[in-house]
Amino acid sequence: MTLTQNTASRKKKARPVDRPTAVWPGSDLLDGKPVDSLTIIFCTTGCYWGMGDGCTMCGYINDSADSPPLDDDLLAQLDHAAAKSSPKTSLIKIFTSGSFFDQKEISQPARKRILETIGEMGTVKKVVAETRPEFVTDERLIDTLNVLDRYDIRFEIAMGLETSSDTIRKDCINKGFTFDDFTRASKMAADVGVTTKAYLLLKPPFLSEKTSVDDMLSSISDTVPYASTISLNLCNVQNGTLVEELHNRKDYRPPWLWSAVSVLKKAKDMFPYIIFMSDPVAAGSKRGPHNCGECDKEVAQVLRDFSISQDLAILSDVDCQCYSLWEKVMELEDNAYGSYLIK
Ligand code: SF4
Ligand SMILES: [Zn+2]
Repeated sequence: MTLTQNTASRKKKARPVDRPTAVWPGSDLLDGKPVDSLTIIFCTTGCYWGMGDGCTMCGYINDSADSPPLDDDLLAQLDHAAAKSSPKTSLIKIFTSGSFFDQKEISQPARKRILETIGEMGTVKKVVAETRPEFVTDERLIDTLNVLDRYDIRFEIAMGLETSSDTIRKDCINKGFTFDDFTRASKMAADVGVTTKAYLLLKPPFLSEKTSVDDMLSSISDTVPYASTISLNLCNVQNGTLVEELHNRKDYRPPWLWSAVSVLKKAKDMFPYIIFMSDPVAAGSKRGPHNCGECDKEVAQVLRDFSISQDLAILSDVDCQCYSLWEKVMELEDNAYGSYLIK
């Protein structure tokens, strides 16, 4: 089967090239303690992979710039974003809805100036930047460290591995790279003292709830040697994607929040030294991860509280009558030939 995105229904918004797609201050874990962080989504030409067939769940290409931003535009985006930071911002997370290391999105000189500007903020201790593994090279890692070392800032690459199964990544997600590509990039980074954060995807299309939970647990075991932080992304329905098309046909339901609780409980118990995170986007809505509607807000908050504390007890501190329903879904959905049992 060949998967293609539903490009016909993609809706692109006109965007000023000197403003980031999004920016928000938050709090994250650094060296075991909660610190002020800033998340910046730069507006670039977008992910080259997303401009082709793209990943089945990803609508980020809708956020890309209509015309390629100049280096000065990217710096203006950073200035705009920095104005939203707290005076104690210690961690900056850079996304581009693509790859920070793709020279077509962010040129080498712009990358250098962005990193220098972050260094000059004076408070930042760590930068995390997202990239596909094929853009991770010795040269780009060393270039980055040459700047950040001057300011005593650590660097981490974040990669959307999604799953350690090459079959699921290819047939359900259409990601376009392999587990070996990810491990190659992670080892190359480790060799120069750069850590790796891996994003895993709970419930890509075409998988039952239980198959997806089992895939996350085996993916975590496979990924632990290559990542110091693992973020569990709960699939949601984004505009103009194959997942949206399936959802509209009632062939796709986002994951239960209980599935995330269950995965994180087991994962933290097995690998206490790894940081596990999950920030459920659109939790509680039909297009986002959800339970019964009554407990969604509370369970989503429990996932966020766990992410910032790493305290396993928090994950057991929540209950709802729908938990037993989720257990039944886990038991029976495999028999439903791909249909979901409960909306
Ligand atoms: S998920 Fe990442 S790699 Fe896939 S299309 Fe979106 S931005 Fe590109
Ligand atoms: Zn409930």
